[in-house]
Amino acid sequence: MSGINSADMRFSNEMLVLNSVRDGGMSRAQLAKTTGLTRAGIAFIVDQLVAKRFLCEGERFVSESTGRRSTFIEIERSNWFAIGIALTRHSCKVGFVNLLGEIVADTRVSIEEAGDPSACLSMACEKVRDLIVEHGLGKDNILGIGISMPGPVDINKGMAISSSSVWNGIPVRDIVSSYFNCPCIIKNTSIAQCLYEKNYGVGKDLSNFLYIKLGDVIGGGVVVDGRPLSGHNGFGNELGHVSVDFNGPECSCGNKGCLNLYASVPALLSRYPEAGFSSWDDIIDSVYTGNASAMKMLHDEIGMISVALTGFINIFEPDAVILGGDLAYRPQIVQTLLSETVNSHRMLRESRKIPFIIASKDDFYSLRSAAYVFLDEFYEGTFPLKGKE
Ligand SMILES: [Zn+2]
Repeated sequence: MSGINSADMRFSNEMLVLNSVRDGGMSRAQLAKTTGLTRAGIAFIVDQLVAKRFLCEGERFVSESTGRRSTFIEIERSNWFAIGIALTRHSCKVGFVNLLGEIVADTRVSIEEAGDPSACLSMACEKVRDLIVEHGLGKDNILGIGISMPGPVDINKGMAISSSSVWNGIPVRDIVSSYFNCPCIIKNTSIAQCLYEKNYGVGKDLSNFLYIKLGDVIGGGVVVDGRPLSGHNGFGNELGHVSVDFNGPECSCGNKGCLNLYASVPALLSRYPEAGFSSWDDIIDSVYTGNASAMKMLHDEIGMISVALTGFINIFEPDAVILGGDLAYRPQIVQTLLSETVNSHRMLRESRKIPFIIASKDDFYSLRSAAYVFLDEFYEGTFPLKGKE
């Protein structure tokens, strides 16, 4: 056990104040009430954070009819930023956001256009640096960088470690952090999306949730007590590599009968070649017109996903399950079927029904998710606050 000195206490109170106003401004009096700090204490901390340009003062009408205004303390949007870098199999989306996670600028570089993944990453770094300059800002305005990339990702080495990943073997985090010379955190894409849902999305009011997304592979993440689980090296949360058949075919991960081998969209389509569907959207559109093959494929898919979901739910009994990726396309039927199947098989099914909710819709979902890989740690107080006092 170690003691707490006054500098630590001050930092902890500064982070408490910053976190209190993230969801909207507050008056100093409201801040004192919310944080439990004295009015004098709040006045001191707010002054410090305004000087460091993490907070600003705004005015709002308290009453439209009387015209009475009140001063609110808000997050400063125009001084500190975080870079987001979202790597995919084909491209690198890059941009920067303010402290509220709002996109300020964004662009995209494809691997094809750059020539190879390393060149793509370097071009993306150059482009975001240019965007920062175009906005009249410099490296000093950047607090840190969040990177998301398809898993598995070794968060300690800062790189992908799967031979099937186009980013395999490229020291992504070291390249980016040496380019910008600031803190850089990397997570797999599913964890980044969990962080998005927890910080801005439908998981905002949930302490424990499971996020599952369907696509070329099945991915997901687990949030417990408001924190995403990463595991020792960041290899946790591989929902697609849970075995649903110990006698099944060998998976690229070395295990047998992994969920991905049956329930990823390509696997599902290849098991029903005669049905003639080319995508998940195709299947779902046909389900809504009563097509029998599409219904059979959907029920098959729901059955497989439910086996895996029931196992996860029995382990940590989440408040809700968030459905993302293809599962969010015209989701009503999927939602109903998954809820019925899982809630009738899991333990403690009599106590309450676990809700299945749809992931957030956002044109900048992947980029904001990547940026939040950093911002989440920032608001957790992992980094000292920069700026002059
Ligand atoms: Zn596997």
